[in-house]
Amino acid sequence: MVHVDAVPRLLIRRLRQIMAEPGSAQEQLDRIVGQIASLMVAEVCSVYVRRQDGSLELFATQGLKREAVHNTHMKRGEGLVGLIAEQAKAINLSEAQSHPSFSYRPETGEEEFHSFLGVPVLRGGRVLGVLTVQNKTRRQYTEDEEDALQTTAMVLAEVLAGTVERIDPSLPDGAPGRSRVLQGEQLSDGLALGHIVLHEPRVIVTQLVSDDPEAERVRLDEAIVDLRTGLDRIFANRDIAAAGEHHEVLETYRMYADDQGWRRRLHEAIAAGLTAAGAVERVRNEMRARMLRNADPYWRERFRDLDDLSDRLLRTLAGVPATGAHQVLPPDAILVARTLGPAELLDYDRERLRGLVIEDSGATSHVAIVAKALGIAAVGQARGIVEAVEPGDPAIVDATAGEIHIRPGQEVIGAFSDKVRFRARRLQKYSSLRGAPAVTRDGVRVALNINAGLMVDLPHLEESGADGIGLFRTELEFMISSSILGRDRQTEIYRAILETAGERPVVFRTLDIGGDKMLPYLRHEREENPALGWRAIRMSLDRTGLFRTQIRALLRAAAGRELRVMLPMLTDVAEFDEARRLIDLEIGLLSRFSSPPPRGIEIGAMVEVPALLFQLDEIARRADFLSIGSNDLFQFTFAVDRANERVARRYDTLSPAMLSVIRAIVAAAERHETPLTLCGEMAGRPLEAMVLIALGLRSISMAPASIGPVKAMLLGLDAAVLRTYLDRALAQGRRDVRAVAAEFASAHGIEI
Ligand code: PEP
Ligand code: MG
Repeated sequence: MVHVDAVPRLLIRRLRQIMAEPGSAQEQLDRIVGQIASLMVAEVCSVYVRRQDGSLELFATQGLKREAVHNTHMKRGEGLVGLIAEQAKAINLSEAQSHPSFSYRPETGEEEFHSFLGVPVLRGGRVLGVLTVQNKTRRQYTEDEEDALQTTAMVLAEVLAGTVERIDPSLPDGAPGRSRVLQGEQLSDGLALGHIVLHEPRVIVTQLVSDDPEAERVRLDEAIVDLRTGLDRIFANRDIAAAGEHHEVLETYRMYADDQGWRRRLHEAIAAGLTAAGAVERVRNEMRARMLRNADPYWRERFRDLDDLSDRLLRTLAGVPATGAHQVLPPDAILVARTLGPAELLDYDRERLRGLVIEDSGATSHVAIVAKALGIAAVGQARGIVEAVEPGDPAIVDATAGEIHIRPGQEVIGAFSDKVRFRARRLQKYSSLRGAPAVTRDGVRVALNINAGLMVDLPHLEESGADGIGLFRTELEFMISSSILGRDRQTEIYRAILETAGERPVVFRTLDIGGDKMLPYLRHEREENPALGWRAIRMSLDRTGLFRTQIRALLRAAAGRELRVMLPMLTDVAEFDEARRLIDLEIGLLSRFSSPPPRGIEIGAMVEVPALLFQLDEIARRADFLSIGSNDLFQFTFAVDRANERVARRYDTLSPAMLSVIRAIVAAAERHETPLTLCGEMAGRPLEAMVLIALGLRSISMAPASIGPVKAMLLGLDAAVLRTYLDRALAQGRRDVRAVAAEFASAHGIEI
């Protein structure tokens, strides 16, 4: 008898012969189970293949009755075989028939066999089927035998992947999987139909067995060193946010990479005759099986980390690039990633990216910013997505509903294609308005500007036909960067923006860091209420170095041009005065370094903290322009956390209270002839924009995609008539401003 350790190696050798021999796929499989039975000294060896509904079909056997082949089916989870598949775990019994899960099948004639050893057949972490051996005597199979059968099952997985569909084309691998819908959370609105691309390419190990354990051991150790060095480098560069990894996950990876138990199991697998890659796959399969069995979310997470680490190690061993960014993408790629950082997303060919689905939230708020700027539909927190898809699978990302349809049926595709076509038609219509001046029917010219914050936003200025950039959120480039942006890099960015904008005005808002906008490389104390915490102008005035560097970069970038700088989160006019003093200091320094100054400098104040409402005259007198940050102003006036879905929409931005606030700001701006704009989200919603114009706003700034719809509304609007209509309704005591505005729009045929 051969030693069990040699079984997989001998089997591989025999397999080559068997596959080369003439015969049908079924005959080949029959011979393979015969071989396994003889090598394992078993009276029975059977292979069950998993169907798409989770049931298992007896596909080949040595020792059971032949007529049972393709006739014996176990439902999902049924019998010992079903249990093995369900739990991805071996079962080893000296008396199978007394096990509570044993399910007697008379057609197989298995009553005479008592001992039973079954293992899952896993490939790429999926259960393809179950491999069993049985004997008449009541014996306990040894651990070595169990190990040998597990490794044999890995070898068999390779054979099954190529054979099964030749026997029954309706079966797994090859045949498309079932349709599924997964739920996540919207990161960037939109709808995308396309094909799956995995951010972390999967490696399928084909070379499992080796005759040279020493060489394999060396390869494995080298790969672990490479992996470890790579992780250290990410830490050293503090590239974590840019790479989209959470700190803890990477720490966990590092811990496992050093884990002696993990390494020992890998070395044991190599000693048993596997290649380095085969050993990783083998240990990974065990981990997956444990993960599937363990209901505790904490442990499932840890096993998943190990699973990821194995993937990384396999890619290192196979010399496959760490991410899918450099492969040729399908023209309608839907990128699926466990975690993804903003910089990594920017590595992909944006022309071919349609959608994005991320499994873990991690750095998603930052990646969401980039996804929005690129205009791709994105969904986050989509648990299970990575395991549920195969590269090339058709999929639909419906970010509005936060859903991902995997391998959708024809009707679903048809329904969504209609939606996409409808959107495309609307977009076409808006683009035809691009060149039309934004003037209402009664001749009011309204400046329509875009909000931006990334270099990738710049094409939107041209595409939308906007008048300028009403809000450039300078913190966004900081957020997607792996380290703090120095003065020169900032100068480059700001100069590029001004150059693209040409004569169109650009309003640079100084860093609004803090709150929900943390920089991964800046140490931040945890705050109980970050929105009310140390952020924006408060941080700038405390950390003047950061603020002054930014001002210096802006001044240099705007040499010979108009520079507009805007200060966020002002609460007290003294803050404006202090910021202006610092800006003046920097202007003074310009001549010392003989840098040409900007042609003109305007310093604006954001009105977004209610305390400023009680200093409107003072601020309007001081500032060169005012901008209503309606997102924060609404949040603080109504005491609703803008990021908390439960309350964010509880009150209406078109309520009488908010209207009074806006009217007061408009009046103060008029009193002091200070230009006024509004740059919160409400400016981008046609109905709200309509009311803002009636209240007297002549400049608003919004997401680029809103320019078209808002302009379409504006072209049909008579602002003076609406103003009278609103005043009358409010005087009559109506409080449902939104309904009043909607009635007006509908009565006057205004597109909203
Ligand atoms: C606002 O608060 O309305 C605003 C425009 O700024 P942000 O959304 O960046 O806070
Ligand atoms: Mg704000």
